[in-house]
Amino acid sequence: MRRGGGEMEETAAAKNRSGSVGEGAVVELEVEVEEGPRFRRVCVFCGSSSGKRSCYRDAAVELGKELVARGMDLVYGGGSLGLMGEVSEAVHKAGGHVIGVIPTILMGKEITGETVGEVVAVSGMHERKAAMARNADAFIALPGGYGTLDELLEVIAWAQLGIHTKPVGLLNVDGYYDFLLAFIDKAVDDGFIRPSQRHIFVSAPDARDLVHKLEEYVAVEEDDPAAPKLRWEIDQHLINYASQ
Ligand code: AMP
Repeated sequence: MRRGGGEMEETAAAKNRSGSVGEGAVVELEVEVEEGPRFRRVCVFCGSSSGKRSCYRDAAVELGKELVARGMDLVYGGGSLGLMGEVSEAVHKAGGHVIGVIPTILMGKEITGETVGEVVAVSGMHERKAAMARNADAFIALPGGYGTLDELLEVIAWAQLGIHTKPVGLLNVDGYYDFLLAFIDKAVDDGFIRPSQRHIFVSAPDARDLVHKLEEYVAVEEDDPAAPKLRWEIDQHLINYASQ
């Protein structure tokens, strides 16, 4: 049984209503919350190609099944190409809910193939990223190319700025992302990424471990004074997109 971190403390003011403690005291309460997934919708970024090794396809299918087993919906970039098709098909086949966010310009079957499940049409690539981010409680990157890296690094950069506190995970299938992880260590060593931000995302070699880590994830405390303003601005940005 998980304990609700947010419910662990009650201020003296609240407790005072029942007249049991003095002002200024903080009372620890242990509130049991119902067992269940910490998040319901996971956005998966992944290759529009399948890669040359079967381990990538297998990992996409395994991730899809794991999400369904945990009662989590899939949000992804829509269509049936490459690993995007593998993961969405796996979720759909296992009875899970799939939400494909796809720009109208890419909607032709001949461009991205067919999306299984629900299709959310957006007007462009930026809107798609914003809609995927807004509609998910957590993010996972499977192996992929430039598009996947762009999406992954954007949600990590947004977490660094304090724009969101959603967990981000890298599915490091058979060491695919080892060089990226080594590069990030180099950026920390050379002073471009703060050591406190090194673990702003988690990584694991298989889906089960990764989802577990995401569920355990505690957001890195940000001390950037610009964060509340940025958060507000991005919210407006996303609201505008959502209402288009
Ligand atoms: P890439 O890793 O370069 O193959 O790009 C894949 C990622 O970028 C996915 O997570 C999609 O959101 C997006 N993307 C890139 N190309 C396409 C495409 N042809 N159809 C749908 N989504 C795409």
